[in-house]
Amino acid sequence: MIRAIEFPDPAEFRRKALPGSFHIDLTNGGPRGAAFWFFCPCGCAGPHRIEVGFCHKPKPEPSWCWNGKLAEPTLTPSVHQAVCGWHGWLRDGYWEAV
Ligand SMILES: [Zn+2]
Repeated sequence: MIRAIEFPDPAEFRRKALPGSFHIDLTNGGPRGAAFWFFCPCGCAGPHRIEVGFCHKPKPEPSWCWNGKLAEPTLTPSVHQAVCGWHGWLRDGYWEAV
């Protein structure tokens, strides 16, 4: 498992580029959602962006339900990365490969 560390500062997030780290941009999401930027736990190139909602799954899909926590984030459903093939879950602040 890899810890998902939150970076409030997007510049530092991109500079450190830690696998599994993330940055949530509340100003740049879709309707009632937010942009969840993350570096894949596998260490491949990034960051990647997915759409998340606060405890709901915003439209249009694909999108993910985020539990709203920064220190112990959970996303549902699981995350599948087409670019590298990584597939797994972000649960309670840890990435777990399937
Ligand atoms: Zn990857």
